[in-house]
Amino acid sequence: MKENIIPHNYQISKKDRQNNNKHNSFLIWFTGLSGSGKSTIANVVEQQLYKLGIKTYTLDGDNIRKGINKDLTFDPEDRTENIRRIAEISNLIVDSGLVVLAAFVSPYKKDRENIKNIVKDVNFVEVYVNTSVEECERRDVKGLYKKARAGEIKNMTGISAPYEAPENPEIEIKTEEKTVEEAVHDIMNYIKPKLKLEQ
Ligand code: ADP
Repeated sequence: MKENIIPHNYQISKKDRQNNNKHNSFLIWFTGLSGSGKSTIANVVEQQLYKLGIKTYTLDGDNIRKGINKDLTFDPEDRTENIRRIAEISNLIVDSGLVVLAAFVSPYKKDRENIKNIVKDVNFVEVYVNTSVEECERRDVKGLYKKARAGEIKNMTGISAPYEAPENPEIEIKTEEKTVEEAVHDIMNYIKPKLKLEQ
């Protein structure tokens, strides 16, 4: 079938859409353990971008796992497929001219590498929300760690499934040493130059 898929030549390009929005589009990817602070930080970053008139969209477990990926489990193969689909969706939204914020545990290095291949390096900002498993378990925002300890959840990242920490993330946030405001400040400082369109 593939040979019969011939792309149509659309007249409005990604560049046109970015020019219309007056900013660049790219993907900000938050990775870290459950409860590390990904959604909390992404949410405040999005509010700051909104105030600056930047067009954004946030992808997270709630809008992805309940919809397009509801057929996927937390087994390693399904986690890989989960991230691949999210990367493809992100790629489309970046192409549409928006800044995408994505908050997913995404524990495997090879899966995060694959996101880079899909959206291209230059469009990918990896934010490692680095919070120890002890602290995440103490916070236990969703009660998942308690369930994992009780054996009610298998494949719980940090407890019974691995988390492969990024080696060279663009930004690393240690939430046990930084407030949410400080984290957001660091991220905004990094992305502000990236938002500017080339003249
Ligand atoms: P995740 O999206 O990574 O699963 P959440 O953002 O849902 O995590 O939960 C993180 C929890 O940790 C929130 O209740 C948040 O208020 C709390 N928290 C405490 N300190 C910080 C910090 N410095 N940065 C981010 N979150 C923090």
